[in-house]
Amino acid sequence: MDSPLVAAIEAGGTKFVCAVGHGPDDVEEARFPTTCPEETIQRSIEFFNEAQERKGKVNAIGIGTFGPADVNPESSTFGYIKKTPKPDWSNTDLASPIQSALGNIPLAFETDVNAAAWGERKWGAANDLNDFIYITVGTGIGGGAVSNGKIVHGISHPEMGHLRISKDPSVDPFVGSCPFHGDCLEGLASGTALEERWSQDPSELPSEHLAWELESSYLADAIINITLTLSPERFILGGGVMQQDHLFPMIRERVIARLAEYINVPPVENYIVPPGLGAQAGVLGSLALAQDLLK
Ligand code: ZN
Repeated sequence: MDSPLVAAIEAGGTKFVCAVGHGPDDVEEARFPTTCPEETIQRSIEFFNEAQERKGKVNAIGIGTFGPADVNPESSTFGYIKKTPKPDWSNTDLASPIQSALGNIPLAFETDVNAAAWGERKWGAANDLNDFIYITVGTGIGGGAVSNGKIVHGISHPEMGHLRISKDPSVDPFVGSCPFHGDCLEGLASGTALEERWSQDPSELPSEHLAWELESSYLADAIINITLTLSPERFILGGGVMQQDHLFPMIRERVIARLAEYINVPPVENYIVPPGLGAQAGVLGSLALAQDLLK
């Protein structure tokens, strides 16, 4: 097989997905809940050691993590989870214990959404596009950006989940669920926000419920703001909330209406799309990042 054998982790706030493989058609996976850092990191290392006994030595590792995370290789805390509301995980060195247990192989460390974007570019719905956005709408909301063929970084990584979104309090009096900003995008449109606002599992809300009008309105505003900022060629929308398929046409309709022909975007069915890799985007993206280190 041409592609090298590598390891990958999609480190989520609720679960870790570890994988060893050569690509989407050959990947061995383990999933377990995210508990305290020591236990979760140890479990990851044990999986990799066992998998290596069966498949051979891995040559690099890619980690796509929940954030905020230090993704700057020049930083003394590269590979750390930064200050997070998630208990026990603030200022945790996630990457180096795993990297050193695997023999200090090359390491790629990214946000989960940037990793997912990279996976979609290599094997999924981005088809080698150089400018596109991956957004996940799940427990939280995150966005990864590829611009000019590169993952976007800066002082940190993009935090599109916390964009400010216009809201009419007479229609939606909910104050928002974000612990930092209240009614930012994540505070209004994440799965957590839906559940708090409607006191119900969002997957059980009927498709004609007001919840989805609001949801598609907030996500459409975010897409418009990002369209106007980065001029991407495509938006890929993944995550648990986007499993509600009726959201796609609602979002597309609002985006087109609100852009008001100021910008002509590609045909909207190709502009706002689900992930080609489904729920595997994050872990396969981390695998792709690891392979790219070996080119
Ligand atoms: Zn926020």
